[in-house]
Amino acid sequence: MRLKDKVALITGGGNGIGRASAILFAKEGAKIVVADVDEKGGNETVEEIKNNGGEAVFIRTDVSNQAQCEAMISAAESNFGGLHILFNNAGIMHNDDGNSQSTQVDVWDLTMNINVKGVFFGCKYGIPLIRKSGGGSIINTASFVAHLGAATPQLAYTASKGAVLSMSRELAVIHARENIRVNALSPGPLRTELLMSFLDTEEKKQRRLVHVPMGRFGEAEEMAKAALFLASDDSSYMTGNEFLVDGGITAAYVTPE
Ligand code: NAD
Repeated sequence: MRLKDKVALITGGGNGIGRASAILFAKEGAKIVVADVDEKGGNETVEEIKNNGGEAVFIRTDVSNQAQCEAMISAAESNFGGLHILFNNAGIMHNDDGNSQSTQVDVWDLTMNINVKGVFFGCKYGIPLIRKSGGGSIINTASFVAHLGAATPQLAYTASKGAVLSMSRELAVIHARENIRVNALSPGPLRTELLMSFLDTEEKKQRRLVHVPMGRFGEAEEMAKAALFLASDDSSYMTGNEFLVDGGITAAYVTPE
């Protein structure tokens, strides 16, 4: 019960990393606010937590919408009396995201609004409530692409994750003496809807996998375990850091045959 009596809000909690984390955090004793644009997925996550005897609520939230972000934080206070863990995890990778020539401005703006501004809004409204609740842990989902360039471009996505990483560092420094820790989680390529719908042929999947020393995609549950470490007091002296959980992709020069 590493998160006993804690309240955790997870954006993008309706699928993938967010859902796996919501379920794991609840098993560790946290009360969960699931925020997502996907009502079906969000409600399914809540049902699963309740079926396991946990406490959870769903609030439909588009993280690029300022008023809705304010409302999701209010939901944590009105339902569970505070907030200790804020997992800014919602993100998109647009199918029409490409290089500087092919990427349209609307795709760029949408990606930045969700992936970057969404984290900013989460912190804007979440930090005062975390402070009021006595402190806590903020985890922002970045990505290994904040470190590596790819010849198969997704320029808006890559730039957005670099922004999440640098924003997380500065937030950590600003709030370090308020008992608020801020760290980034940077997953490698995962077998979730987000990447599998982008790599929609076996050839594209293999083209990516050749760069992963472990030779497989990561699982959402493997990211949830890393997020739990960052959320809990197990990481009590860790802030302004990045947890790269990437199958070794950022360590590889050449991979085994
Ligand atoms: P996913 O698509 O399974 O889940 C993402 C969730 O975010 C979905 O439930 C979706 O409905 C929600 N979402 C999308 N736009 C939203 C919005 N505007 N407001 C609220 N919720 C919204 O993907 P995932 O792999 O679990 O991705 C989670 C995070 O991990 C993302 O930030 C993603 O960029 C990051 N990430 C993923 C990979 C990967 O390979 N899958 C790698 C590195 C980083």
